[in-house]
Amino acid sequence: MAKKSKREYVWLECTECSSRNYRTNISFAEGVPKLKLKKFCRKERKHTVHKIRRK
Ligand SMILES: [Zn+2]
Repeated sequence: MAKKSKREYVWLECTECSSRNYRTNISFAEGVPKLKLKKFCRKERKHTVHKIRRK
């Protein structure tokens, strides 16, 4: 029997300029993870904190 996986596509949104720079899929099997990642923002051309934004 196939294992059920709750995978969902989410956006990683810059907390400084609100531009959605990355798209990824993560597992919601144990609730919504509150991830904050340092990613490169193309709009600002620097590294900023990005958070998960569900569709
Ligand atoms: Zn930004």
